[in-house]
Amino acid sequence: MRRSSLRTTLLLVSVLFAMLVVGGIALTTYVIVSDGMRQVAVDTGSRLASTAEAVLRDIVASAEAETTARGLTGEVADEAALRLVASRLPEAMSHAGMSEATFALFDRNLELVWASDTVVMSQSQVRDRKLALASGLQKQSIGQAGDLFSGLLTDAKLGTTVNHTPVSLPGNSKGVLDVVHTPTSEERIIDAIRQPMAVLAIAAMAIMVLLMQTSMLWVLGLVDNLRKAADSIEAGRLDERLPVTGNSEITDLARSLNGLIERLQRRSEAQARFVADASHELATPVAGIRGYTSILRAWGADDPKVRDEAVDAIDRESRRMARLTADLLNLLHADQGLVLRSERFDLNALVRERLASSASRWMDKDIEFEGPEEDSLLMVGDPDRVEDIISILLDNASKYTPPGGSVSVHTRRKRDNVLLEVADTGQGIPAEDLPRVFDRFFRSEASRAAGEGGFGLGLAILRSIVESMGGDIHVSSAIGEGTVFTVRLPKGRV
Ligand code: ADP
Repeated sequence: MRRSSLRTTLLLVSVLFAMLVVGGIALTTYVIVSDGMRQVAVDTGSRLASTAEAVLRDIVASAEAETTARGLTGEVADEAALRLVASRLPEAMSHAGMSEATFALFDRNLELVWASDTVVMSQSQVRDRKLALASGLQKQSIGQAGDLFSGLLTDAKLGTTVNHTPVSLPGNSKGVLDVVHTPTSEERIIDAIRQPMAVLAIAAMAIMVLLMQTSMLWVLGLVDNLRKAADSIEAGRLDERLPVTGNSEITDLARSLNGLIERLQRRSEAQARFVADASHELATPVAGIRGYTSILRAWGADDPKVRDEAVDAIDRESRRMARLTADLLNLLHADQGLVLRSERFDLNALVRERLASSASRWMDKDIEFEGPEEDSLLMVGDPDRVEDIISILLDNASKYTPPGGSVSVHTRRKRDNVLLEVADTGQGIPAEDLPRVFDRFFRSEASRAAGEGGFGLGLAILRSIVESMGGDIHVSSAIGEGTVFTVRLPKGRV
């Protein structure tokens, strides 16, 4: 993804995230407040209804007392008392501090006795009134309320709470008192919080987006710096490193990249060294062949002795070149990862076979070759590659051991591995050369001087083979006493 499009995506994601979080919090707050106010409105309606009922009870009692005092009895007294009640109610209700509500009083036939305002005669209200009269229980209904979120965009509408309370009228007859409460103060509270809440929500969203953008741009800036630094490192100039400052994840990335550059640098240096060494090694036999060709041209025709000498030398040098190119190819194959067979074979039998071949090859040197004590040691692996390993080690041991010395091979099991030990009583390797004997083209000064003739590739090939088989190799040596190479290889499931 391009950086600019990454920025746009991050911007969109942060806006969406802020909207979700802040919007969610604002909506929840609104719902909690609005629901609370709705409950407050209902409670106020109930409270007003019971106060109104108590007021009415007092008025009915005093009206009855008055008509009795006037000497009225029976239905006449009841009617007079009811009229008195209707006439005293308006003042009594306003005295009781119930200006937030309107009232309507109905007799036992649900005929209107008195009302402080227009009376709603909707079907549901008529039904609830009847129910309250018949059951003697208070009925409550809420009318014309908006839904939970309506107050978010327009003015809040909590709806009117109507309480139909059954009451006793003069002469012990039943009636119903309607108390209608319109929750204007509660609605005003909801309307009052809407605007500041919206402003706060927008401000919170903006701050959130800003903070997220700033931190993301900061991170992108760090990545960009890293990219610029990486761009400035040219392919061929691997000695430069990315800046590592601070202690962030970006610094860790820079450290990892520096590690990668260092590994590439080491590899490229090793390759350059390898090419230089290989060309140097090839140059010697080529120079030899050219020299002898000139001799052959100048004197070969006249002097058969010179001719034979030159032909022998050319043959020797070309064989040397063939050996070198074969070694280089082996190394290349081992580096590219060998295709390994997986076969069950007897390691000790293989060792004995190689020892016999070395003994006949180095017969002139009068070296004593010793084999493994045990009869057989079975393992699973590639016998050809194991043979290569044994051959290289035996070859070196025989090469660097003076006449009359001895070369011995021991094998043993160690947990899931087999250990192959090749020891000689030869010249030994100087301590400072030990870490380098597995390097390509490495030959110790002593072996160069003695003209033993290797290219310094045998142990490098050996290490590649051993590693590709999942094993490892160690060497220990003492000057004048001898050298021991120990190879560990996985035994495999025998
Ligand atoms: P070469 O073809 O020169 O033997 P190797 O890679 O096999 O190359 O060995 C690298 C160098 O390690 C040799 O030149 C020699 O100096 C030293 N070396 C290897 N094996 C022995 C040994 N058994 N005893 C003494 N020196 C050894």
